[in-house]
Amino acid sequence: MPEPAAGPGPGADGWRHRDVETRPSAIAGRGLFAVRDLAGATVVLRLARATVAGGRVDLLGAGFPNHGCDAVLGWADDRALATMGEVAAGTELVADYAMSISEPGWYLRCHCPSYRCRQMVEGGDWQIPQLQRRYAGWWAPPVRRLIEAGRAET
Ligand SMILES: [Zn+2]
Repeated sequence: MPEPAAGPGPGADGWRHRDVETRPSAIAGRGLFAVRDLAGATVVLRLARATVAGGRVDLLGAGFPNHGCDAVLGWADDRALATMGEVAAGTELVADYAMSISEPGWYLRCHCPSYRCRQMVEGGDWQIPQLQRRYAGWWAPPVRRLIEAGRAET
């Protein structure tokens, strides 16, 4: 059974891993951080509802991870975010919003510390082939279906 949320989570009945907490972030506001080392494929956050269905990040609410252009988290299913690899204690758990947003006209200015920072993150970034390869297997299901449909056409 899941543990109860350790603090304000995304949505009224969202769930958060007990070894993660929100702290002030160098990227923006508050972020989600690993308190202890985490193994790969650890589910750290489960949303109260499948808010990624419409690809709109503004519906995700407080407690959702910050965007980072070199993601630590990927989507285990349409509600759960998991570590894509081993994570050291103290790491900010960022998600690449491209993995869950497919909204034309949406954008976010990014100043994350990654050398991969795209600076302007847009609602069509899921179409970037390098991102499709880097995050293979970790896309939010609605966006994964778009990628698969695109492959089927070519
Ligand atoms: Zn960035």
